[in-house]
Amino acid sequence: MSAAEDRHEPTCCWVLTPPAPGAVAVVCIEGPQALAAADRVFQHVGRRRVVQMAMDRVYFGHLRKPQGEEAVLCRTGPQAVEIHCHGGPQVVQALVAALKQQGIAPASPEQWLRKQAPCGPAREALQWMLQATTEPMARLLWHQAQLAWPRWLTQARQALAQSDWPRLNDLAQEVLAWEQFARHLVEPWQVVLAGRPNAGKSTLLNALAGFQRAVVHARPGTTRDVVQQSVALGGVPMRLSDTAGWRSSGDSLEQEGIRLARRQWQQADLVLVVLDRSRRWGAEDERFLQAVQAQNQRLLLVRNKCDLPAAGGHPPGVEISALARQGLDELQRAILHHLVPRWPELHQALPLTPQHAQLLQQLVQATAPPRPDARAAATVLERLASG
Ligand code: GDP
Repeated sequence: MSAAEDRHEPTCCWVLTPPAPGAVAVVCIEGPQALAAADRVFQHVGRRRVVQMAMDRVYFGHLRKPQGEEAVLCRTGPQAVEIHCHGGPQVVQALVAALKQQGIAPASPEQWLRKQAPCGPAREALQWMLQATTEPMARLLWHQAQLAWPRWLTQARQALAQSDWPRLNDLAQEVLAWEQFARHLVEPWQVVLAGRPNAGKSTLLNALAGFQRAVVHARPGTTRDVVQQSVALGGVPMRLSDTAGWRSSGDSLEQEGIRLARRQWQQADLVLVVLDRSRRWGAEDERFLQAVQAQNQRLLLVRNKCDLPAAGGHPPGVEISALARQGLDELQRAILHHLVPRWPELHQALPLTPQHAQLLQQLVQATAPPRPDARAAATVLERLASG
């Protein structure tokens, strides 16, 4: 890199791990001065200089400040290193201060992102990745930035250059098919529990959450407010909401709870209708089921209390015992099947924002027969690429 380029690209450091105590912290240094700066803050046990180190190999040594602190260093690029040290905030602060003394400024995570992907869908993907709450979603987003979108843009530009409109149209439609899924890469799916009082909704919420989140009580009408809990089922982020037990009578407080419940059912991506199969199915159950169906058709019927004898008359559903934790794996599979019936390949580009979806729609229109509009297609494609 020339001296002129050096002036434009300062060397910066980033603390890549969260600002909280942890076993390990990762500090990366990138830019023309990265290797020289690393030599001044890190001493390899074999006294090898960073420039002599092989790429992507890990070298053990000590930090010079705090003196003697054990650390490992890895050259991750021609002008990039990562130092992995103990995760105590004091150690990290001392290392960053030592780098500052070398004129290496600490930069924000956003600046790091801008460096990795200056614009377009790849940048959006990395930004979302910072907020991903599960490993599979973070992995998907990482591949969006590194593989899926760069690949898609290359293919789309090739199709445009060859005036291959059917191909370009297909490419846009393939991405659009994942719109619903992509909306939930970071935003959790809303899964709402509905049931008559005492069906076992709160017990089920606690079983799925893995801890006692909602009050469980044999007295009917205990849950009146909406109780929410974020969970990850099969790596998919979800927000579970336990709602008031439905009944046609009840005091005004209970009816208010049921009104809130109705609103939740309506907005849900999926309603788990929890039925107590140890009590005979009756007219009030039928009324309850109709009340839920009137709000939402995306239902999964769950026949709870399968540890007790079945009383009969219930519609078919997934058999579980929330109390004895039986059938929960099958329930989890059924929930995932409803919400995420298929999972994208890592190389599949996804519409990461509403704007992507809008531009892709425009691309579909611009490339549609009988008269594809080459100029409109080119404009849309460049808008998509530049973000
Ligand atoms: P909710 O009103 O629908 O939230 O019901 P709760 O979760 O508060 O449960 C009501 C009662 O049913 C409590 O006494 C629970 O212990 C009991 N219960 C819940 N699930 C089961 C189950 O799978 N088997 C049995 N035997 N009892 C259960």
